[in-house]
Amino acid sequence: MDKQKLLAGLPKVDQVLARPELESMAGRAPRSLRLKAVRLVLEGLREELLAGGEIAAGKLSLEGVAAAAAAKAQELARPSLRRVVNATGVVVHTNLGRSLLAEAALRRLLELNQTYTNLEYNLAVGARGSRYSHVAGLLAEITGAEAALVVNNNAAAVFISLMTLAAGQEVIVSRGQLVEIGGSFRIPDVMARSGAILREVGTTNKTHVRDYESAITSNTAMLLKVHTSNFAVVGFHHEVPLREMRAIADRFHLPLMEDLGSGVLLDLTQFGLPKEPTVPEALADGADLVTFSGDKLLGGPQAGIILGRADLVERIRANPLNRALRIDKLTLAALEATLELYREPRLAMEAIPTLRMLATPLAELTRRAQGLARRLRALGLPRLAVDLADGVSRVGGGALPLAAPATKLVAVRVEGFSPTRLEEALRGGDPPIICRLEDGRLLLDVRTLVADDAAVIARVLAGLAA
Ligand SMILES: *Cc1c(COP(=O)(O)O)cnc(C)c1O
Repeated sequence: MDKQKLLAGLPKVDQVLARPELESMAGRAPRSLRLKAVRLVLEGLREELLAGGEIAAGKLSLEGVAAAAAAKAQELARPSLRRVVNATGVVVHTNLGRSLLAEAALRRLLELNQTYTNLEYNLAVGARGSRYSHVAGLLAEITGAEAALVVNNNAAAVFISLMTLAAGQEVIVSRGQLVEIGGSFRIPDVMARSGAILREVGTTNKTHVRDYESAITSNTAMLLKVHTSNFAVVGFHHEVPLREMRAIADRFHLPLMEDLGSGVLLDLTQFGLPKEPTVPEALADGADLVTFSGDKLLGGPQAGIILGRADLVERIRANPLNRALRIDKLTLAALEATLELYREPRLAMEAIPTLRMLATPLAELTRRAQGLARRLRALGLPRLAVDLADGVSRVGGGALPLAAPATKLVAVRVEGFSPTRLEEALRGGDPPIICRLEDGRLLLDVRTLVADDAAVIARVLAGLAA
């Protein structure tokens, strides 16, 4: 048939919109989106016809256009921020949202955001109160800190601490600790923006007590230790331990701050993970201030936690910029509920997904991988091949870079797909499945699967391999 005739024969916008495929979507996609979808589909067909493309008659029919438009409308109505399946085995995956919240934190978040709360209201005196009071006592109880302040994230915590305590003065940092964290957070840049002057000491691999001592002048505001959380230095290497930095700080009457980054509250060596300094240890070893994230190994919501000496914390709290960096009430509710779990370390391990995932024994992971493999084989698809493989997971979140907890992987092949194409196809699934490509194999790590992720993987793979 000739092009003009086909173009003229295309259904009209109103005809398509009135079809049940689109009418029935009214609850999920508003009329404006359905209209846009119909127009996009019709435009696409017109362009293809004008370019001389061959299109099956079914696609040009009223039913065909309506089906395509309904699918398009569904796509347009889908939220941008949505669920993905994390099959990478990277537990604190910054790009995939870092830590998942514990049930208790989710419940608190819901409860306290459907009613008014005493967010900034002191119930005892019936007057304005402080939003920080809700977690300060709890943080002191868990970590031994004298005082606490919580802000938007750890970057904000480091920034406002430096700005408050050291603007216009020098902060001494070892050259081995001038780190970059993902997402362009670099200690020298943050320091420059805070107004503090960076005074680098030592060398990349070795810094000694005398390096700190000889750099101290009347314009020194503080000593800063940055936990090099996302890389490892091996070989000829020395950093001054926090305890020895404490001794220097005492001799020169200077405050000592440590940016811990991840901020572990429990000793993780009990799960076979490498030693990571805990927050209580940093405080006990003499840090006047410690900063860390709420959503890395702590396993809570995004937050920056500042702990330490009451006089220093009070100065930071009183900084007018604190208002711009302050924690919001949703986060605060989830943070308090998460911290409560730490009163009982065993409960924290079981209830906080980040810790639970890290602590999952290999036997349990093997059982889960076997279960997933069985489920996939049970689909009975000749094009789908499934094998088990040994491998390691990662902690992520710029923490414990050398930790490689053993895991069990499910290796998947689909006939007609290269591993790269399969990775792409799974990433394009609904919901998207993010997995690992290693040595030319597509791998699913069961350590980070949650909820009905296994069922989702089976459904998406069934669609691809059918
Ligand atoms: C992650 C990290 C930060 C930044 O923390 P956010 O909560 O992501 O803002 C700062 N310092 C160190 C050492 C870190 O590991």
